[in-house]
Amino acid sequence: MKLEKVINDDLNKLLEIRTDDDFTIESVYYRGDTLCVSSQVGCPVECAFCASGLNGLKRNLSYEEIINQYNIAVQNGYTISNITFAGIGEPLLNWENVKKAFWFFKKNGLKVSFYTTGFPLKNFKELLTLPHNGISVSIHAVDEEKRKFLIPKSARLENILDILKEHVKNLSNRKRKLYSLAYLLIKDVNDTYNELEKLSKLAKDLGLSVSLLKYNQIENIPFETTSDEDYEKAFLFLRKKGIKVTLSNRYRTRKIGGCGTLMINRLKKEEGGCPSCM
Ligand code: SF4
Repeated sequence: MKLEKVINDDLNKLLEIRTDDDFTIESVYYRGDTLCVSSQVGCPVECAFCASGLNGLKRNLSYEEIINQYNIAVQNGYTISNITFAGIGEPLLNWENVKKAFWFFKKNGLKVSFYTTGFPLKNFKELLTLPHNGISVSIHAVDEEKRKFLIPKSARLENILDILKEHVKNLSNRKRKLYSLAYLLIKDVNDTYNELEKLSKLAKDLGLSVSLLKYNQIENIPFETTSDEDYEKAFLFLRKKGIKVTLSNRYRTRKIGGCGTLMINRLKKEEGGCPSCM
């Protein structure tokens, strides 16, 4: 594996890394301390809003390829104290390698967090028990049918939430803060007040915060970005319901922000784009 290119904007650095079999994978360095790593080449989950899903899965990354994203970044002078599995791929679908990499990162004193769609359920259960530093469960819809449309290859939302509920119910408030529901707001898809109302009930029921993410438009995908005004309204609506809400931070809303807004993905040099696991 070798670092092929670094694409900079004023906040983030997108590292394009070429694998030995000629795929390009991507990691994003942001906030001056965090590396967002990919776990797969392409992704089998086929989220309707994600360009990586359009191409399906090419292959899983090996354990070495996951940790080498970190090693390469360090060798190139980046200071890293946090790893987040929020690049391309669903970490639970490459679980054995991701788990091994997780322990490598922990042994090296790094904090490790995850964005996941919660599937497969067996691996999701195991993930919850690891000494992680944060898990955002991507739900993106409050009813099964719409979630199935947005995230086709996942388990039923009901089953994912049952597992999450069972896990968090006895946690202290401090530990519960490590978990959140990620909701990618997409114009005219999942942004009605009725849906936000249901989302607030869900979050309240679980005692979790909501990570409200703003969709960044991607060429060839027929969804639109919510306006700043509507995004703010959704935020205030949830806040008024008593829900703790975090918004897409300015690192993530950049074109090469990664961790929810990773936009550039090239598989065998084909242009793609990936908003990642949001
Ligand atoms: S959003 Fe994440 S889980 Fe969904 S297809 Fe893209 S990389 Fe895969």
